[in-house]
Amino acid sequence: MTFKLNGDSALFLELITVYLCTLSFESVKTEKANEQAVSNKKFFIETYGCQMNFSDSEIVASILEKEGFTGTKELKDADLIFINTCSIRDHAEQRIRKRLDFMKSLKRKNPNLVVGMLGCMAERLKTQLLEEEQVLDLIAGPDSYRDLPKLITDVESGHKAINTILSLDETYADVSPVRYDSNGISAFISIMRGCENYCAYCVVPYVRGQERSRDVTSIVKEAGSLFQSGFREVTLLGQNVNSYEWIEGGVKTSFAGLLEKIAGINPLLRIRFATSHPKDLSDELLKTMADHQNICKAIHLPVQSGSSFILDHMNRKYTREKYLDRIAAIRHYIPECSISTDIIAGFCDESEEDHKETLSLMEQVEFDYAFMFRYSERPDTLAAEQYQDNVPDEVKDRRLREIIDLQQKLSWQSNKKDVSKIFEVLIEGYSKRSRDYFSGRNSQNKVVLFPVTGNKIGEYVRVKIIRFTSATLIGEVHEDDCNK
Ligand code: SAM
Ligand code: SF4
Repeated sequence: MTFKLNGDSALFLELITVYLCTLSFESVKTEKANEQAVSNKKFFIETYGCQMNFSDSEIVASILEKEGFTGTKELKDADLIFINTCSIRDHAEQRIRKRLDFMKSLKRKNPNLVVGMLGCMAERLKTQLLEEEQVLDLIAGPDSYRDLPKLITDVESGHKAINTILSLDETYADVSPVRYDSNGISAFISIMRGCENYCAYCVVPYVRGQERSRDVTSIVKEAGSLFQSGFREVTLLGQNVNSYEWIEGGVKTSFAGLLEKIAGINPLLRIRFATSHPKDLSDELLKTMADHQNICKAIHLPVQSGSSFILDHMNRKYTREKYLDRIAAIRHYIPECSISTDIIAGFCDESEEDHKETLSLMEQVEFDYAFMFRYSERPDTLAAEQYQDNVPDEVKDRRLREIIDLQQKLSWQSNKKDVSKIFEVLIEGYSKRSRDYFSGRNSQNKVVLFPVTGNKIGEYVRVKIIRFTSATLIGEVHEDDCNK
């Protein structure tokens, strides 16, 4: 059954709770067997996509552990496998489809294995997935994780189960995420969910629903308890953190206000955030960042294109000039701030001139690093419905290559400028290549490697940079008294 709430709502609030009989679980089990089924089971979560998905997997783990399930890091030990999925580009979905082929082979060996799909792809394709991918027993969208224990019970009693209800207010504020794949130093905190910016190319508003902010008290409490348990860095997550707003008892907390509260927990707790939308990046936020040494001096500000025509076509709600004005404001208030971005190559109707404007904007801003993508048409988006995906594949590829080559040059130049500078680095662990080197990041979010000293993981050290690659700074400890 499919119920559509407010059929004309652009948000596509689809309410679906479908239970389909399966071929493999046809026999209906007794109640006793059911009880056994939901206890003593081990679950494994495989996560794809953005930081938000990794944060959601921690919420799922918490919900399942509360119900008596146990997490495992070994796929082979799992009774239940959940794949938390991404829909942002077609390539992401194709990767997950291939992974499901592998899950089929596991299920042939263990017919009792339960395989569930979570997240954006589950939300986008809903029942269609159950029809196309026989290996799947369960589908749960991003707002229905509280329902997972019940969905699992339904599967154990011989049905396929699906819940893709999008919520207007679910923020999982009271769920304490299990940091199951963590280094014990850095953690994500989800501060809002959904997005209603409707950029023409983007599937997020359709699969993650309406924007909603999480209760400020629950966020500050979570950050405080992470600090108490030894964490030294939190990254606040949302699709557009600048529009965070919580009103309680007539008092309004903006994103800058939230940052201030978290910064006050302890000067040794670092704060990062992602993602900032250029249309909402306020001077108030920049001043707050400048005023607190523990708010990291790094802003991820996706530009997508350097052409005002393409930005308008993308429904980004800013022009090239407005974007450059925000860059000037960052440089004014926080001269040492690093700036990173996202860029899409070959969006609909992008001319060679538009592409050149992207390259010239990159040169002008001198981004420290960038995530760069080839445009991928996504069903149901404004671009898919109203524009033509008319930039030929080979042109998209060539433009993307030019953008990547330029960014490599800019990242190299940015790192070169850091030689001889001294940065405060939070030690996060050992270098992947050698236990003789510590690995950490500076406030600007650059990875810094330096020879192991008497310091411990989780401490801050001052490191003088002596050499670099385009991805990493390499240095030596200058002094180590910054943990007081
Ligand atoms: N909310 C963030 C913002 O607006 O900046 C970004 C969220 S999205 C998960 C991450 C990035 O994926 C976007 O900034 C965009 O560059 C890229 N992206 C989104 N949809 C895309 C598409 N259809 N094709 C290619 N890249 C896409
Ligand atoms: Fe997608 Fe735009 Fe929302 Fe970012 S702001 S998630 S790009 S719709």
